[in-house]
Amino acid sequence: MSTTLLHQEPTGSNDAHGTPVINHWIDGAPSAGTSSRTAPVFNPAKGIVAKNVRLASAADVDTAVASALAAFPGWRDTSQAKRQTVMFAFRELLNQRKGELAEILTAEHGKVTADALGEIARGLEVVEFALGMPHLSKGEFSENVSTGVDVYTLRQPLGVVGVISPFNFPAMVPMWFFPIAIATGNTVVLKPSEKDPSAANWMAALMTEAGLPAGVLNVVHGDKEAVDALLVHPEVQSISFVGSTPIAKYIYETASSHGKRVQALGGAKNHMLVLPDADLDLTADAAVNAGFGSAGERCMAISVVLAVEPVADELIVKITERMKGLRVGDGTRGCDMGPLITQAHRDKVASYIDVAAADGADVVVDGRGVDIDGDESGFWLGPTLFDKVPTDSAVYQDEIFGPVLSIVRVASYEEGVGIINRGRYGNGTAIFTNDGGAGRRFQNEVQVGMVGINVPIPVPVAYHSFGGWKDSLFGDAKAYGPGGVSFFTREKAVTSRWLDPSHGGINLGFPQNH
Ligand code: NAD
Repeated sequence: MSTTLLHQEPTGSNDAHGTPVINHWIDGAPSAGTSSRTAPVFNPAKGIVAKNVRLASAADVDTAVASALAAFPGWRDTSQAKRQTVMFAFRELLNQRKGELAEILTAEHGKVTADALGEIARGLEVVEFALGMPHLSKGEFSENVSTGVDVYTLRQPLGVVGVISPFNFPAMVPMWFFPIAIATGNTVVLKPSEKDPSAANWMAALMTEAGLPAGVLNVVHGDKEAVDALLVHPEVQSISFVGSTPIAKYIYETASSHGKRVQALGGAKNHMLVLPDADLDLTADAAVNAGFGSAGERCMAISVVLAVEPVADELIVKITERMKGLRVGDGTRGCDMGPLITQAHRDKVASYIDVAAADGADVVVDGRGVDIDGDESGFWLGPTLFDKVPTDSAVYQDEIFGPVLSIVRVASYEEGVGIINRGRYGNGTAIFTNDGGAGRRFQNEVQVGMVGINVPIPVPVAYHSFGGWKDSLFGDAKAYGPGGVSFFTREKAVTSRWLDPSHGGINLGFPQNH
């Protein structure tokens, strides 16, 4: 099946009202599965149900795992050269046709076209990293560790691996995992977010077009029922999860108690610490970009600016000026910021505006009632700014996951770092300063997994690994980079000798090297 067809009709079928129904992708082809349950998929800029997606039963998950299990021996034993050929073809096709994928992302997630292309570019980086897998996964060799004895290590795939991804990066987050899993010889069952599921099907179909054998990459759509079936499935060797912290914790505990290797990346609340010597124009640009890009629905978004006095008043003026210039609307119309993912999420985020006022914060910019370049029925909330947010307010404590930026005024660098380090999350953070010594001190003292020095969204490049600390990551394995290669492979150490008469004789002692 051509992926162009899939893009126009990602479903294979329509329901009784003519609404497309998105199928699973199992064994190299669309599959309706056995469950009759479905969930609506919105176009959030229009506020309408554009499609429905099938929600897999445990039996559907079984079918996908069986397909991946059957494909595993052949794929594991496929030469590295042939595996690389497929990955290279995927890279080329994806690069040529990224516009199609960007359209899908904008239609189902709402993010603006430029941002959708940015997401795809960061996924492509991981595909390109995976193209170096023969080098990245090679073992070590020690010759003659004892007379005539050699020791070497191999890195072998795990088998069938499970990936469960969130709504906010429907292309990039799956690409954090499946290229590395597949390049190292595993077979995959991906359960994407049911809120924007088509990107996963599109990528799986493109992998098939690139020459990937049936069963190596399967996509099962669903909710808790499908996730739970994957977490306890005896043939699934590992789980890579990205999503909110309560679910990440549940995933980690459930899957690891069923003997699986687990990496579960959770939520975030990222702070930007602004020192008085910072360039306030560049800092205000960064705060607006990192606070409101993708409508704040990024796990590396900046949601709190810790302004070391006396910078707050001037910084707020500069941030507010920039906010006035932002165009909110349909992602296909060249706007800066799109809608939120659902009406329910939009309402939840908007409810924090009243909480902020009740808790004594200043509502500097109220995003309700913003001018929209798009349908009125979309899930809109404009950029919102609070000042003097108390750190015991839910506005400060909760991961709001929307276009809401909070200013917390602090008296010193030490007070700011203390607030960051007492936080429950440790995903990303940034310091803005022109003082190199302060930057070095910050990178050393701050209790956060990914740190920016004058860089507001410090997502590491594909050859470094991604992952936070504390409640932002359960398990000790990070995503992609060297951490990803290690996660998707098991090391084996081989001690070898080719026998000759000098090796004879009986000796029950523990082997020693001579
Ligand atoms: P979510 O936790 O609601 O969903 C993530 C996945 O879990 C989805 O596939 C969903 O179907 C599944 N799921 C949801 N509820 C479940 C349940 N009760 N049992 C089993 N599975 C369940 O997250 P989301 O709203 O899709 O994504 C936003 C969240 O993801 C934010 O908290 C954000 O910070 C986080 N996130 C983190 C990172 C990171 O790298 N740390 C990256 C992206 C997003």
